Amino acid sequence: MRRPISLFNTLTRRVEPVVPVLPGRISLYTCGPTVYNYAHIGNLRTFLFQDLLKRTFRAAGHGVQHCMNITDVEDKIIRDSQAGQPSDASNEARHGAMRALTDRFTALFLEDLESLRVQPADFLPRATAYIPQMIRMVQDLEAKGLAYVRDGSVYYRIAGLPQYGCLARLDREGMLGGASVDADEYDRDSATDFVLWKAAKPGEPWWDSPWGPGRPGWHIECSAMGLELLGDRVDIHSGGVDLIFPHHENEIAQSEGCLGHRWVNHWVHGEFLMVEGQKMAKSLGNFFTLRDLAAKGVDPVAFRYAIQSNHYRKVLNFSFEGLRAAENSLKRIRAFRKRMEGGGEAGGGPWKESIPPTVRLEQAREAFWAAMADDLNTPEALAAIFTLISGLNAQDDHVALTREERDAVLAFLDETDGMFAAWPHEAAGLDAEVESLIEARRAAKAAKHWAEADRVRDQLKALGIVLEDRKDGTVGWRKG
Ligand SMILES: [Zn+2]
Repeated sequence: MRRPISLFNTLTRRVEPVVPVLPGRISLYTCGPTVYNYAHIGNLRTFLFQDLLKRTFRAAGHGVQHCMNITDVEDKIIRDSQAGQPSDASNEARHGAMRALTDRFTALFLEDLESLRVQPADFLPRATAYIPQMIRMVQDLEAKGLAYVRDGSVYYRIAGLPQYGCLARLDREGMLGGASVDADEYDRDSATDFVLWKAAKPGEPWWDSPWGPGRPGWHIECSAMGLELLGDRVDIHSGGVDLIFPHHENEIAQSEGCLGHRWVNHWVHGEFLMVEGQKMAKSLGNFFTLRDLAAKGVDPVAFRYAIQSNHYRKVLNFSFEGLRAAENSLKRIRAFRKRMEGGGEAGGGPWKESIPPTVRLEQAREAFWAAMADDLNTPEALAAIFTLISGLNAQDDHVALTREERDAVLAFLDETDGMFAAWPHEAAGLDAEVESLIEARRAAKAAKHWAEADRVRDQLKALGIVLEDRKDGTVGWRKG
């Protein structure tokens, strides 16, 4: 069964069902990181929301083909990578320095995604591997009268495209036709002709082009990679709200200028992250990377849950208090999972107004999917899970659920974990493994088999388990 999913479309400002061009296969393009530094938790919120989006379509029975680019040539990358280069450095050396910087931060970015359990994209193109496609696209725009050359740089003529401004809802009267801007980022008050190809300045790495040595502008990178890898009709394109203008508006202008028809059907944008009520800024001391959080003992999966439990279109105020609440919610779901994995004993006592567990379960599944299908309403979807947990825990206290009922509940927990990736089966498997190792260590110590006890201790250490000797002689443990 394939469940239909609706998402808010920035283009129409309405929640609309996603109807893929090819039934059963959704093409998804997401703007990837600019790799010159660590991703901060605001960036990571966007990538987590996109992971939820992709996983939800997959769990709902749709195939998803996902392309996320790596921006590895851009103003800030050039600034940071060329800082230590001598003024007479060769172009080759400049490219090498740029590549060393972007390789390093690409690897660190992918590590962050892995620890957040973000599923890898099917295509992960680096912009610098698609320079010929970018040049061809700029030539095409020039041939169509949508681009012009000035001092070795090429600019997009926004007055030439009637739909320019459709995504950001710009007032065409207020646009500065004829004026041009070289920067990749600017605000909506300066909607001007933007740069497609930048003439090389001294001290910058460059590529040969029909307009002389230069490099691509940021916006053309995504258009060229998206067209090359996902084709000329894309179902969903997504990014953070800060990308609506100018980046996505310019992507539309470039791609539709070349194609002559609609390129992307659904534009989906995730909201900002605030930290402790303020915009994140290094000067305010509230600027965090995932590594900063890890140094404070934060489990990346708890951070993942804290993000996913809020609606992606609402500004999220991240706080350490909120993170603790997320940890507690997760503990509750995991404890329930453990209980369902166990056998259960009837506590007895009167149990009236009982709804059969299978009915409760179906109600929860329906409510969960109705919420997810309605623009990924995760707070409501999670509420359905917690309602189920309360109902079944209360019932299980009195009349133990049967093995079959427990297995059906576990199947639902697996299904929902397919999207939230925070209460997987392995956790329970780990529990059992750790408990049996602790028992083996206790037995070895009791038998004075010290080498064996040490060996088991090392095994536990390798699993990242910290043991705590309790006053009563028993041994507790936690994940270190
Ligand atoms: Zn992009």
